[in-house]
Amino acid sequence: MSIRDNILKIKENIDNTCLKTGRKNDVKIVAVTKYVSIDKILESLKYGIDDIGENKVQEFLKKVDHIQPKPNYHFIGHLQTNKVKYIYDKVDLIQSLDRIDLADELEKRANLADIRVNSLIQINISRESTKFGIKENEVFQFIEALQNHKHLYVQGLMTIGSNTEDKAKIRSDFRKMYNLSERIKSKHYDRVSMDILSMGMTDDYMIAIEEGSNMVRIGTGIFGEREKMGG
Ligand SMILES: *Cc1c(COP(=O)(O)O)cnc(C)c1O
Repeated sequence: MSIRDNILKIKENIDNTCLKTGRKNDVKIVAVTKYVSIDKILESLKYGIDDIGENKVQEFLKKVDHIQPKPNYHFIGHLQTNKVKYIYDKVDLIQSLDRIDLADELEKRANLADIRVNSLIQINISRESTKFGIKENEVFQFIEALQNHKHLYVQGLMTIGSNTEDKAKIRSDFRKMYNLSERIKSKHYDRVSMDILSMGMTDDYMIAIEEGSNMVRIGTGIFGEREKMGG
């Protein structure tokens, strides 16, 4: 199938899932473009994609000047503190805020530039040791430690679903994420909104939407299997 057909199919699946779940369709698709060529990215932008997600600083920087009209950029990978300076003012949303020294560096840069940086807190909901992210029971403490980061805004949560075939486990983790975001919202922290719940990828986005996701990050489902190009 072509990129266009893939996007149309995913949009139809999202529409149907929202209908079935009885919610309005407020789901944003972030096209994950790691290892994807600029030509293919431009093609996706023609067919209704407005949001692009990259997970490596180098790759993002190589592409960013070639992509017009400018989409919304999401950084979705583990972000090393010493690379913040290259991207903090070029991306619209950093979805992988996962530790306090990263928050400190973002605040420092944003303060100097007098801009606002938008982020999602990445949660390691499945507690897999291979995954980055704040643990559920540590998130309130983490948010409280952000209270003097006046240029850093938290718009919601992000997670990567369990790496398992067990759909019930995946669903239960997504449900925990939704409940966690509601609990955070009820605290009305400054600069913390919980408007975005970013969860769901090619294999699990419909489950994620059923459990309350309003942002799905889809790579393979749009562009096909990735060929590792290295770097
Ligand atoms: C690669 C990646 C995705 C997309 O994965 P697909 O299975 O190709 O849809 C989503 N989120 C993150 C953080 C990723 O690294």
